[in-house]
This record gives sequence, C-alpha cells and structure tokens, in this order.
Amino acid sequence: MSTFSFEFFPPQTPEGQEKLRATHRQLAQLNPAFFSVTYGAGGSTRDRTLATVLELQQAGSIVAPHLSCVGSSREQIRELLDTYRQTGTRRLVALRGDLPSGMAEPGAFRYASDLVQFIRAETGDWFHLEVAAYPEYHPQAKSPREDLLAFKHKVEAGANSAITQYFYNADAYERFRDECEALGLTVPIVPGIMPIGKFSQLARFSDACGAEIPRWIRRKLESFGDDGASIRAFGLEVVTDLCARLLRHGAPGLHFYTLNQAGPVSTIWQRLGI
Ligand code: FAD
Repeated sequence: MSTFSFEFFPPQTPEGQEKLRATHRQLAQLNPAFFSVTYGAGGSTRDRTLATVLELQQAGSIVAPHLSCVGSSREQIRELLDTYRQTGTRRLVALRGDLPSGMAEPGAFRYASDLVQFIRAETGDWFHLEVAAYPEYHPQAKSPREDLLAFKHKVEAGANSAITQYFYNADAYERFRDECEALGLTVPIVPGIMPIGKFSQLARFSDACGAEIPRWIRRKLESFGDDGASIRAFGLEVVTDLCARLLRHGAPGLHFYTLNQAGPVSTIWQRLGI
C-alpha cells in the first residue's frame, strides 16, 4: 500500500496559525497516511512543534513530529519522547538536524543513527521511526558510499522507513533505491516532493541542502523572470510529471513538503488522480 503524507512547519504568528488550520482542513480531505511537523535546529521550535502536533491530533489527524537531536541532551529527548507517548503519538521522523550558528556543542547525539538507537532502547517498538535519505547525497557526506552506509546504519539501528530530501532528478532516486536494495535494505524509501513556487527561494534552499535543480528547469524558471503565473504553471507540470514517473516506477508513496500551502499539492494530487 502506498503512503502519502504532508509536511508542515510550526507557524510563528497567529496569522500563520490560521493559515495552517485552513491548509490542514483542505489537505485532510485527501486522507493522507499522516501529517508531519518539522522541528527547528537545536530545539528552537520545541514548544511550537508540540503545540502544532497536539492541535492537528485534536483535529483527528495522525501526526508524525520531527525530532532532531543535535544540541540536545539525553534527558531533553527522553522528556519529549515521554510527552509524545502520552499524547498517543506512534510515529516520529528521527533526524540529526544542523547545529544553529553560534551553538558549538553537538550534545549527546552525533548522528541520527544514535538517536534511532536511543529511541529504540528507551521506547522499544512504540514508535514507527522514519529517517531521512539523500538520493543526491547529503552535503556533508565524505563520499556517496559513506553516505549510503550511514543510511544503512540508521536502518539497522531500527528505522522502519525513510523519506528523501527533495530532488527533481528521478534517476538519482531510482539508483539510490537500487543501491539500498543491493545492500539488503528493504524499508520503504518515500520520495520527498517539493512543489516549485518562487524560484529565488527554491534556489536558496537547494544550495543549502544539496538538492540539484537541473539546468533545463533552472533556465526555464529564470526565463520567466517575475511572471509568477508562468513559474507556477511550469512548476506544476514538472513536479506532476516527476510524481507520476516515480509512482509508475514503484515508489512506495510520496511525502509533500507543503510549506503550509494547500494549493500546489492539491493540484498535483488531482492531476495524478490519486
Ligand atoms: P545523519 O543521518 O546523521 O547524517 C548526517 C551526515 O553525517 C551525513 O553526511 C552522513 O553521511 C554522515 N554520517 C552519518 N552517520 C555517520 C557515521 N557513523 N560516520 C560518519 N559520517 C556519518 N532538519 C531540521 O532541523 N528539522 C527538521 O524537522 C528536518 N526535517 C527533515 C525531514 C526530511 C525528510 C529530511 C530529508 C531532512 C530534514 N531536515 C530537518 C534536515 C536534516 O536535519 C539535515 O539534512 C541534517 O544535516 C542531517 O540530518 P540526518 O538526520 O540526515 O543526519
């Protein structure tokens, strides 16, 4: 069975909260397997993530909070795990995260695999654990092979499934999945899908996280200049084609980075006929 999910970030303002409520109402009608809520580096959104998770749960949705461990102590993570258990949360996205600038101490966990191991030791099989995967390789990875082995290590530490960093290059995903299979990894690896909105924002994000915008897409987007309607129309076409190909080639679902917007995802969803 395919797993479709939608990712939100915890809003910072009352207007942002209202917008997220409306987005959630709209996307909940598509009946996803779960919604996920991001967690700011170094625990910076700890309370807002928790509040958003609780609100979505109270509205009747299954929610997977993200939990990044860098900069945190074992006690802080234990407390959060206890809180989530008490709220009946059964799914988590376990991450290392990135140290915010100015924070020097990595804390008790060096890699996401340490966090997965800790969660399993503390809570057994209570949580379904998702981890991150990088078809175009993590920007800090020493080599593609080491990144692949680091991913294997996370799975062996107890991850149940994975969500990828976004990409626009289906070959990278399919090759990564084949390489995982060749290593004997059988967990579902769900493609992360980033709809294309503003080109400058996408270019900045992509530089930071090591996701490639293929030249033909970049050149087309650049050629539209400030013509937002053309950018959106082209973006929807490219991303819908990507999703359709991934599903046709056996992707076990799709995870949408919604950026708290319902419009692009709903359109892609309709066009895919899911
Ligand atoms: P890891 O799996 O620990 O990998 C980090 C790096 O260390 C990689 O280069 C890897 O190759 C290397 N490595 C791992 N293990 C070893 C080892 N044993 N020896 C040597 N090298 C090793 N960030 C947030 O702050 N909040 C979020 O909510 C969030 N959500 C995300 C959701 C998804 C689906 C994805 C794909 C990313 C998300 N991120 C989030 C970003 C993520 O935190 C960063 O990409 C971070 O830099 C790496 O996190 P990780 O869990 O992949 O780390």
